[in-house]
Amino acid sequence: MDYAARREELWRRARERGLDAFLVINVEHSDGANLRYLTGFSGSTGGLIVGAQPLFVTDSRYTEQAGHEVVGLPIEETTPRWLPWLADKLGALGVKRVGIGAHRTSVYVFQELARLAPGIEFVPQAGMVEDLRRVKSGEEIERIAAAARLTDEGLRWIVDRLAPGLRERDVALDLEVWYRRNGAHGVAFDLIVASGPGSAMPHYRPGERTIERGDLVLFDIGARVDGYCADLTRVVAVGEPGRDARDIYRIVLEANRTGLAAVRAGVAGKDVDLAARDVIVRAGHGDRFGHGLGHGVGLEVHEGPGVGPASEDVLAPGNVVTIEPGIYLPGRFGIRIEDLVAVTADGVRVLSSFPKDELLVL
Ligand code: ZN
Ligand code: ZN
Repeated sequence: MDYAARREELWRRARERGLDAFLVINVEHSDGANLRYLTGFSGSTGGLIVGAQPLFVTDSRYTEQAGHEVVGLPIEETTPRWLPWLADKLGALGVKRVGIGAHRTSVYVFQELARLAPGIEFVPQAGMVEDLRRVKSGEEIERIAAAARLTDEGLRWIVDRLAPGLRERDVALDLEVWYRRNGAHGVAFDLIVASGPGSAMPHYRPGERTIERGDLVLFDIGARVDGYCADLTRVVAVGEPGRDARDIYRIVLEANRTGLAAVRAGVAGKDVDLAARDVIVRAGHGDRFGHGLGHGVGLEVHEGPGVGPASEDVLAPGNVVTIEPGIYLPGRFGIRIEDLVAVTADGVRVLSSFPKDELLVL
């Protein structure tokens, strides 16, 4: 990973905005993704000053780890009272206008720094590092592809074991253990295993319910590999699911394919959403698809660009996004089909490979 080039580009953009330094602060994972993106550091607490005299700072718990992970930057160890330490350090560097991430820096840290360093203006910047993260390098896309492959394999493994009588939360736990045993460094988010009427809730939490014959079971799952996330949704039926479920599945599948076909560089995210949404609206279920069609995926499972009705983003080569239309019938069932896709210079590369051509009946 070319961390130095990323920091150089951030520094160039910061100068364009009249800033003379940019500060990334990660306290107990508050901004772990941006710090990791710029330095490779995977610990829970650390900070980065981007500017004429760049510097990585962390506390004594992470000094050795930073020595292994952070290349090409001086590393300094803070005192336990690290905000006063940081304010003094910035003062010594002589900087006057310091950009600071607006999304993941707490109000407390921002106010404390302003109080401790009254001669420095801290200027909140929305999305500066996040904008850089949208366009993935080939190396990043390979890591996401590896996470997607493992996610597919895990689903195959668990689907072979799925049967009436199993509790949702046990299925989710078994799958998470399988991912960790087979190369994942964790899961990208709390795995969703939603059976029966639970599948109608898009962000359902798996619970005590046991799977019954005739249920649909929705899996929204993702492994994390080398820091990068995957995101996949498939629905399977345990026993004959009935005519309505098969009909809804076909509509969602057509919306998924239409969305994937609309993805290419130069197309607005909201137009991809519109293309897929139109399939569901024409089938008479427009009011049963409440969420956006998709989102970017990378070091975080939800990042830019957006692929929803409110998105102002235009897709570019190197973006990795999900396409995940769904129809949810409260109290009955829900169906969502989600694929992960990378935008290339001349088309797309679909990273999800778990079959979807028809509703899998176990
Ligand atoms: Zn998902
Ligand atoms: Zn998703």
